[in-house]
Amino acid sequence: MLFPMITKQIKCRHCRSANIIRHGLTANGKQRFLCQDCGRYSRENPQPNGYTEPEREMILRAYDERSSLRGLSRTFGVSRNTVTSWLKKREESAASGSHSGRARPAKA
Ligand SMILES: [Zn+2]
Repeated sequence: MLFPMITKQIKCRHCRSANIIRHGLTANGKQRFLCQDCGRYSRENPQPNGYTEPEREMILRAYDERSSLRGLSRTFGVSRNTVTSWLKKREESAASGSHSGRARPAKA
């Protein structure tokens, strides 16, 4: 194993309870969870792009090491489009805060 599995800490989005159980899938195939405390449903990945900051960091770091989008999507289940958009964002922020004389050529 090259990379540790990402363990997701799922919490109820309504009451923040961790006391939730898997309860089928949503219409678009995401895992759905039922909160046993408030009885309401939560979906996996409530973040807009579906990933938390630490997950994104880890995936981007893996990309730096392997530079394989296909490997990434296999390992993390992340779509290539998602990673590409993160990379673009990262390059933009790197360019805006560029250090003198350390410009990195863009990857082809
Ligand atoms: Zn709840």
